Amino acid sequence: AEGRIYNFSAGPSQMPLEVLEEVQKELVNYKGTGMSVMEMSHRSKEYMAIAAEAEKNLRDIYGIPGDYKVFFAQGGATLQFSSVPLNMLGSKAKADYVVTGQWSDKASKECKKYGVPNNVCDTKATKYTSIPAVSTWKIDKEAAYIHYCANETVNGVEFSYTPDVGDVPLVADMSSNFVSKPIDVSKHAYIYAGAQKNLGPAGISIGILHPKFADGSSELKICPTYCSFKTMADNGSMYNTPASFTWYVIGEYLKYTKKVGGVQHWAEQSDKKAGLIYGIIDGSDGFYNCPVEKSSRSRMNVPFTIAGGDEAMEKKFLDDAKKVNLFTLAGHRSVGGCRASLYNGMPLEGVEKLGDFMKSFMDENR
Ligand code: PMP
Repeated sequence: AEGRIYNFSAGPSQMPLEVLEEVQKELVNYKGTGMSVMEMSHRSKEYMAIAAEAEKNLRDIYGIPGDYKVFFAQGGATLQFSSVPLNMLGSKAKADYVVTGQWSDKASKECKKYGVPNNVCDTKATKYTSIPAVSTWKIDKEAAYIHYCANETVNGVEFSYTPDVGDVPLVADMSSNFVSKPIDVSKHAYIYAGAQKNLGPAGISIGILHPKFADGSSELKICPTYCSFKTMADNGSMYNTPASFTWYVIGEYLKYTKKVGGVQHWAEQSDKKAGLIYGIIDGSDGFYNCPVEKSSRSRMNVPFTIAGGDEAMEKKFLDDAKKVNLFTLAGHRSVGGCRASLYNGMPLEGVEKLGDFMKSFMDENR
């Protein structure tokens, strides 16, 4: 569409144009109802159908076991950092945390308000650039659960496997690699993800919960009703008004996902896109550098430095990139450098354009 750019933002992030155009088409008068989805009662027949279809499509796409609960909770993943201990600590008080980046570190710190987090590993000292082998984790077998972040958005560290942690219930923050590859849902007690990277606008976190944690038996007394997994599950995420418009857009994104070939399609695209950029970085003789160990590199967020972290050169890179329509390539404010986020909504063509730009920038500036 006219004037659209390639937006490499870490989130909220670029969405497929087709999804935006469908939403635009339906914006003012949704399927002859005479109103917009954002004006619609969440309890109306029309809206209930939108909500149910979105859930069904997510279940189909991920192959979610039928007894698992799916919910669409208001708030970002940051609220889930609280909801997890509030709903899962029970009488155990202790929980394990795998700290491989800034987000899992924040999750662990949030747990401290309600219980005792045990960091089974912590890679902060080596600047969050690797995932230590599971065999080295100091897992407490009595922990209420063990939490990991499947993809660290700031540091660019991603799990390429589901960690095997024995009988301790496994909890995953999948905010930044949700619906980007097939996952083994049944190995998890709880999966959550904010929507604003791979699935729609901000405002909703999706939860996928093993039924064992949906009966309230491990919910702390102080858990706000707003955060209660049992309340969410018992009321189909409509105990109170959900973020109804966001939920609808997520539904459109899921329909589109089905149409293009499901999560397998996104997985193939992601491998291609990430492979292209890492290939250029690794073939640049150190002009570009990605600090993350190869086996832990993220397909979604590619952090890199230029000319050994030369800030003037990085600024020039960001400025020149804009001239060819490539935007939002600055690294997270806490780590600096550059970062290209390659979520589902970023087409291969945009990544090829970035690759070409990186090569010519290198030729001109090395
Ligand atoms: N976890 C991860 C992996 C994230 O990338 C983010 C947001 N970038 C969060 C948690 C926090 O999400 P929110 O800002 O929606 O609260």
